[in-house]
Amino acid sequence: MDDTLHVVLANPRGFCAGVERAVLFVERALQLLGAPLYVRHHIVHNRHVVQALAARGAVFVDELHEVPDGATVMFSAHGVSPAVQREAERRGLTVLDATCPLVAKVHLEVTRHARDGRELVLIGHAGHAEVIGISGHYEANGGRRLHLVQSLQDVHAIAAADGVQIAYAIQTTFSIDEAAPIVAALQRRFVHILGPRHDDICYATQNRQNAVKQLAAHCDLVLVVGSPASANSRRLQETAERAGCTAYLVDGAAELQRGWFDGCRRVGLTSGASTPD
Ligand code: SF4
Repeated sequence: MDDTLHVVLANPRGFCAGVERAVLFVERALQLLGAPLYVRHHIVHNRHVVQALAARGAVFVDELHEVPDGATVMFSAHGVSPAVQREAERRGLTVLDATCPLVAKVHLEVTRHARDGRELVLIGHAGHAEVIGISGHYEANGGRRLHLVQSLQDVHAIAAADGVQIAYAIQTTFSIDEAAPIVAALQRRFVHILGPRHDDICYATQNRQNAVKQLAAHCDLVLVVGSPASANSRRLQETAERAGCTAYLVDGAAELQRGWFDGCRRVGLTSGASTPD
C-alpha cells in the first residue's frame, strides 16, 4: 500500500507585502544604525519573528513614552495617527516609518472625507492598531463623526445625522468576503454612501483565504502556521474548516501531533500574512 504523505503548499501564503517590507526595514535599520532600535507595536503578530528581531536589538514598545528622548523609533506597517507623529516630533525622536503604502492610502482617503465634511463608517476591529491610526487621521482633519462597525448589527445601529454625506473605509486586513455583507448593508441603508476606489483595496487577506479554500477541497488536513495572536491566521483555519476540512493552527513544528496524520494522504500547508512563508 502506498503510504506516501503528500504536502501541498498554498499560494499565496505567508507575509503580505506590507509586513515583509516592515520586517526588512527593521533588519536594515539594525544593520545600519545598530541596537537598540525601538519599534512601536509588534511589527508583526508572530512570536518567532518578534523574538528573533528582539534578539538582534529591536525593542518593542506599546507607546512612545517608553522610548527614550532622542532615540530612533520605527512605526509598524499598521500606521499611526497624526497625534503619534506629532508626539515623536516634539520628543526629538528619529522616526523610521514602515507604514504600508496601502494603509497610507486609507489615511489619505479618510483625510479627504473629513475635509469634505462626510461622516465616516470604518469597517474594522475595535482596538486594532490600524483602526486607531485610521481613526486618528480622520479626527485630526476635522472629521465630523466616525462610526466603527464590525457586524451587520452595528450597521443597523448607526445613527447618522440627517442630510450629511457619508463614506466608508475598510481596515486592510479584512478580506473582501468578510467585508462584503457589511458593505451591502451600508449601501442599502445609505444609498449615496461613497466607498474606496477599486485599486485602493488590499487583496492580500482575500487571496490567502481563496488559496486555503482550494487547499481544503483537495486535502484531508490543513495546517495553518501562525501565532494564536494573529487574527488573519485564525481566520485561515476557520476558512479551511468551513470548507469542510479538518484544520489546525500551529505556531511551530513542535505543536504537531502524530495522530492528526493518521489516514491522511494529502496535507495542505499555509501560513498567515504575519508569518514567514
Ligand atoms: Fe499592507 Fe495589505 Fe498587508 Fe495591510 S494587509 S499591511 S494593506 S499588504
